[in-house]
Amino acid sequence: MNTLFDKIWDQHVVTEIKGGRQVIYIDQHYIHEVTSPQAFAGLEKRDITLRRKDKIIATADHNVPTKNQHLPISEPLSKKQVSTLMRNCEKFDVTCYGLGHEKQGIVHVIGPELGITKPGMTIVCGDSHTSTHGAFGCIAFGIGTSQVEQVMASQCLILNKPKTMRITVNGKLQRGVSSKDIVLYIISKLTAAGGTGHFIEFAGDAITDLSMEARMTVCNMSIEMGARGGMIAPDQKTWDYIKGREHAPKADKWNEALAYWKTLYTDAEAVFDTEHTFEASDISPMLTYGTNPGMGIKIDTHIPETENQKALDYMGLSTGESLIGKKVEHVFIGSCTNSRIEDLRLVAEFVKGKQKADHISAMIVPGSKAVEAQAIEEGLDKIFEAAGFELREPGCSACLGMNEDKVPAGEYCVSTSNRNFEGRQGPGARTILASPLTAAATAVAGVIVDVRKELN
Ligand code: SF4
Repeated sequence: MNTLFDKIWDQHVVTEIKGGRQVIYIDQHYIHEVTSPQAFAGLEKRDITLRRKDKIIATADHNVPTKNQHLPISEPLSKKQVSTLMRNCEKFDVTCYGLGHEKQGIVHVIGPELGITKPGMTIVCGDSHTSTHGAFGCIAFGIGTSQVEQVMASQCLILNKPKTMRITVNGKLQRGVSSKDIVLYIISKLTAAGGTGHFIEFAGDAITDLSMEARMTVCNMSIEMGARGGMIAPDQKTWDYIKGREHAPKADKWNEALAYWKTLYTDAEAVFDTEHTFEASDISPMLTYGTNPGMGIKIDTHIPETENQKALDYMGLSTGESLIGKKVEHVFIGSCTNSRIEDLRLVAEFVKGKQKADHISAMIVPGSKAVEAQAIEEGLDKIFEAAGFELREPGCSACLGMNEDKVPAGEYCVSTSNRNFEGRQGPGARTILASPLTAAATAVAGVIVDVRKELN
């Protein structure tokens, strides 16, 4: 009797080494411009090459500008990072979707979109939010730079097996409550350290009811509770999402793959190291008020007592305060958490025929060139423009202050990204994490509002 995690992990053990650690085979390696340069340099120094170049896909996302991508990058550091990636990929013959490429986008958006991410795989990337891919029933996790080099050289990693945790969410969500609220709610209950040492499986009808894109949002933020990663058992929605995509198995290979994928579930008698259960009806639209994603509240409650006064001081907020009615200067809809076509459709549906508040800058950044093209094909760009929202070109953008899109010091940004750390969106920036719907409603009202009251 095994958990889904155990089944996939055990199938990838190459050998066990002294001290109980295991050598795990990695099926897919995604790379980008931030954590790959040192790894490539390490290979060059040791005069070795890539073990499986066909198992690596590169994209430029963190450092790319989201305006005028046809022009040379003006920020010197960003320019260097992106050009180094391109040069390394050319030298080592790695497939690279660089700036301007029709398949370019945030690494955790393009992997599933191209059908590269599939059930049962082990997937790594030098980026914490690699957990996103777990939505397809695979073991996906972020690795450090030295591990990026290890995988490049050997296609394996030496790891300690994590403990297993199941988080079950039962029941139906209220209207106006989304997958982002589910995961922010769970983190607020378990804290930013609540998943430490574990790999999480999300289960329950509130999870299986979610679309594949919404499942990615949940798994994306699983690491924000300290977990190694998150996963959801694949099902009919997963097969339907993958079928026909560029890297999906075709013809007989599809049937073979499907037969295997159908074995990927947790056995009824399997035992997890830790279990938590929540009720979907208890979840409201969520907001963070502090400087880690665990400092979150239901939108209609007040900021609780906290020992982390430093976080409240940084955010310019106080215990007992309600965030409803709080004036904010920026709204950012994007990042690998919420930049897929369903997020953009949801926002477009809400803002259609409305206008953003004059004092707010409202930016929508698609997760990939494909999402951008789809949004334009569906006329969402026109809806955003009419509502005063700016649709940018794809990239990580204001998720982190590593490119031109930054939030000025002391100003508030309601953001659909995944981290509200001090300075994450720029030095002194004050980030309030929320769902795309809450962000859109805030942009229109000019102050934070409970989106449930704004829906017809
Ligand atoms: S959008 Fe943010 S969290 Fe996601 S890959 Fe880019 S920087 Fe990392």
